[in-house]
Amino acid sequence: MTLDFEKEKLINELKKRKPKKVLVQLAEGIKKNAPEIGEWIKALGIEVIFSGETCWGGCDVAVDEARAVGADLIVHFGHAEFIRTDFPVIYINVKDILNLNHLLEKSLESIKDYRTIGLSYSIQHRHDIENIKRFYEEKDKKVILSKKIGPVAHEGHITGCQYEGLKAIQNDVDCFVIIGNQFHSMGATLAVKKPVILIDVYNNNVRIMEDLRDKILKQRAISIEKLREAKNIGIIIGTKCGQKFGSPKKLMEKLKDQGKNVIAITMGELTPDKIMNFYNIDAFVELACPRIAIDDFAKYSKPILTMREALVAVGELSWNEILDKGII
Ligand code: SF4
Repeated sequence: MTLDFEKEKLINELKKRKPKKVLVQLAEGIKKNAPEIGEWIKALGIEVIFSGETCWGGCDVAVDEARAVGADLIVHFGHAEFIRTDFPVIYINVKDILNLNHLLEKSLESIKDYRTIGLSYSIQHRHDIENIKRFYEEKDKKVILSKKIGPVAHEGHITGCQYEGLKAIQNDVDCFVIIGNQFHSMGATLAVKKPVILIDVYNNNVRIMEDLRDKILKQRAISIEKLREAKNIGIIIGTKCGQKFGSPKKLMEKLKDQGKNVIAITMGELTPDKIMNFYNIDAFVELACPRIAIDDFAKYSKPILTMREALVAVGELSWNEILDKGII
């Protein structure tokens, strides 16, 4: 696979905006490309500093870091715009250049019983989407792109925490096809009730995601039970600017009413080490990226729940309601 870093777009934007110092954020998989990207920017006479912090999504724009080092512009590589900030940012999506034809052909077997496909893609594949749509239409399928609802950047665009655009079309489609990786398709299968087929471009495979759904839901139900049994509970308030998934106040009151000892904790990046230091906390609810609780639970020694799951534990929502709305 070749990555297209949209060098021309970057240079044109930098020439137009004329910054003196930029802070560059790179998604995790492309941090290795920092030296060459640094050369392009320095060649324009601009000072460049790379953020060494993790960057998992467009929700994470390093405005505080940029201010701390006196940068006047952020260049954010690898994600689309997800939140509005009061700081200038250039988003460079980074395109994955690869030939998808053999995977599309392979997917036909998995979707042979379905006529109408809901199609979504992670941002690196946006440039391919018209070709993909045409491919399926030529095979007599009807294709509907997921809606642009919430912070996603485009019609058909999917992120790990935004599935309203898929839910909006699920009554009109027979299945969903996701172009990307397991992360996005697993979230989709937890959010919608139609079959989800992943065109896994990174593992060169086509997968039907349903079997994972039941396994994850069982694990989530266990975490909800553990929160009910917990005495000391930590509510983690994410400090990354686009990771605000719920307000802690009402949840804390509800938990206190049920006899729990509840504390609020701020955290930027959640890690097992940081969590472990709060040794006497029995369970956590995290209001940062909801995928940490769901995808990374095995890394943590204590149960971690999303806001919606915590609302089930305190009786504000029923399990069936979150299955209906989707657990993300
Ligand atoms: S909150 Fe999580 S899933 Fe959503 S965009 Fe950020 S990193 Fe991705």
